[in-house]
Amino acid sequence: MNLNYTYAEIADLLSIQEKPTIEGRIDAIAYDTRKIYNAEALAFFALHTEKDNGHNYIQEAYNKGVRCFVVNQQVDLPKDACILTTENTLEALQTLAKKHREQFAYPVIAITGSYGKTMAKEWLYSLLKDEFQIVRSPKSYNSQLGVALSLLEMGNEHNLALIEVGISEPGEMEVLEDIVDPTLGVFTGLGAAHQENFESEKQHAKEKLKLFKHANFVFAQEEYASPFRRSKINVEYPSKATKDLAQLAPTPFKSTLENCIECASFLGRQTEDMEAIVKQLPTVASRMEILAGKNDNLLINDTYSLDLHALEQALNHLLSLKEKQQKIAVIDLSLSSPEEQKKVEVFMTQFPLDKVYFLYEEELPEALEDIQNAAILFKAKRKSFIKKEIENFKEKKHDTWLEIDQSAILENINHFRNKLNPKTQLLCMVKASSYGSGDVKMAHLLESAGVEYLGVAYADEGVDLRKAGIKSPIIVMNTSESAFQEIIKYELEPAIFDFQQLEAFVTTLIRFKKTNFPIHIKVETGMNRLGFSEENLEDLFELLQAQPEVSVKSVYSHLACSDDPNNSFTHKQAKRFSKYKDIFDEKIGPNIHYHLLNSAGILNFPEYQYDMVRLGIGMYGYLPNQSALKPSLAWYTRISQVKTLQVGDTVGYGQNFRADKEMRIAILPIGYSDGIRRSLGNGNVEFYTHGKKVKTLGNICMDMCMIDVSDLDIQKGDLVEIIGDNNDIFELAKAEKTIVYELMTNISKRVERVYLQN
Ligand SMILES: *Cc1c(COP(=O)(O)O)cnc(C)c1O
Repeated sequence: MNLNYTYAEIADLLSIQEKPTIEGRIDAIAYDTRKIYNAEALAFFALHTEKDNGHNYIQEAYNKGVRCFVVNQQVDLPKDACILTTENTLEALQTLAKKHREQFAYPVIAITGSYGKTMAKEWLYSLLKDEFQIVRSPKSYNSQLGVALSLLEMGNEHNLALIEVGISEPGEMEVLEDIVDPTLGVFTGLGAAHQENFESEKQHAKEKLKLFKHANFVFAQEEYASPFRRSKINVEYPSKATKDLAQLAPTPFKSTLENCIECASFLGRQTEDMEAIVKQLPTVASRMEILAGKNDNLLINDTYSLDLHALEQALNHLLSLKEKQQKIAVIDLSLSSPEEQKKVEVFMTQFPLDKVYFLYEEELPEALEDIQNAAILFKAKRKSFIKKEIENFKEKKHDTWLEIDQSAILENINHFRNKLNPKTQLLCMVKASSYGSGDVKMAHLLESAGVEYLGVAYADEGVDLRKAGIKSPIIVMNTSESAFQEIIKYELEPAIFDFQQLEAFVTTLIRFKKTNFPIHIKVETGMNRLGFSEENLEDLFELLQAQPEVSVKSVYSHLACSDDPNNSFTHKQAKRFSKYKDIFDEKIGPNIHYHLLNSAGILNFPEYQYDMVRLGIGMYGYLPNQSALKPSLAWYTRISQVKTLQVGDTVGYGQNFRADKEMRIAILPIGYSDGIRRSLGNGNVEFYTHGKKVKTLGNICMDMCMIDVSDLDIQKGDLVEIIGDNNDIFELAKAEKTIVYELMTNISKRVERVYLQN
């Protein structure tokens, strides 16, 4: 946020009679103390939620340095705090958002409907970003609180706002209409989501359309003509040109896209300019995975839960897929109780599908194989057997892929959180493309899981995260002078480990007229990698105290032997670290965070958790002897060819294998350039297929390797597991004579990453 209000102005905007007794200025608001990093110019709104009361955290916010509070209860704070008392803190926040929004004359596009809002927002952004400076709501911030927060992001540097608006109950939209006051609207459509809270579909439509009461134009599909007419709202339907353009996009949600394109044309975007953009629109994170299937089918993979709400959303999506006439659902009830089964069966009768398969056993109906040109929804609980089966229905493009199970990662994070004190913050390391797990997806996942900090090794990794919309604070562990400008531009936070680096950074900050820039000090406790040592401290403090350009946010060190609970060296390091802490506390002040532990450290030495811990490999579930952690990776390939060898035939480069009997081998499209070390050839590793372990034969090639499948009934296209449920990653690491860290980060970029969304 980039607000600029004095305490007095805030009081005024909120119609608070009592004038503040102190002067001050805010540039952002906060309501969650866990997310306060720079408290200097914050207003803390004490909100009431179902589970909690923000007033309980006021002291904590004060301790973190916040001095402006909007409350509706009696609070007891020192005299230097500005306390603004209102009747309802959420309403006050909304009022502030409304007044803030009123200062801007540029268009605000509001997006609503019962599905696809986030998607529409991201697509509009892609279509318009070359022509406009756009502010848009983060993620799916569309609730009463989220809409207000989104509006508060509006600034003079923008000239267009995209705001997503969602409601779940009658009556909510009027409030939101009032604060958003949309200039234009995009209506994604009406499904059955939240329908149970509305008397009828008519009422549901009427309520949603209230958002557009004063909008100049709304872009929607023609099927909603009558509710729009009844509500007397100007509506525009997609033109022929728009529809043609939408056909170019790789998305099944054509109608939502048409509304976005129509809106963008209205704002002056030319068809020719949008063409290239439409062809590569981003896929928007959704729990549902939409996949191209074989036989021209379209698959919706939503194996997450079977609760009726989730089921209904999935069915709405299925029914909105206009280009496939046939709509089919496959619902696994084999893990459900008889009552649950009954409920789902009855529920399904309301939806006009061509065919519904209820599965009561772990078996798919054979008829599924013959289906052509249909949209098929697979709906099941998370543990369902269907998960693996879906593979066989996909159109096959990539033969080797790495699956990353995001729910396992979230479970692992929770496992670690449970070992920590409530106040200890979590920094997750996403260096080296998140330990090889891929691009920015992990960072998005971690951010949405409420992780406080992210850590990368180099500045360019941090820049990539920022460009992908990551807002969390990011520590850069190893910054060279050449990256300082980027660090400042993208608001990354460097780790500082020597004087030359610190001086150079301060010089750059002076040039850019920055003060109070957050830095992290790395200290040496025994690892003998990077870091200041004890004898440097005096000079360091002298420099830090003299330079208002930097502000020390944290001090940290790294353990050499945290994986061994019995190694006393860790205690030695911790002792040295605690000495540093005492000195920093005394010389620099009490607001510094301290952190020492990595994943293994959290489990083995929780007593040294200080204010924050740095979680890495543990997120993926790979620490030895920790059965409570869930493995999150699976690496698969498919057989390219099967061959029969006669006695005397040889295999591969150097004729390193010679058959002494008739045998069958399979060729896999995976080699040392994918990350299967050459040393794993000649039987030095086992993979898994058809219920058995299979050994490599001959040398591993650059792009291929061979396995012995003599005893197996195997065919081209069959699945082979490199690592996964049946082939332990630790075993593969051992075969490679290395550790899981190296194995993970060596899986080549060309191996497709597939993120399981649930
Ligand atoms: C990579 C890294 C971590 C994370 O270590 P794990 O063993 O993967 O948990 C923590 N701290 C620093 C400084 C690191 O570089």
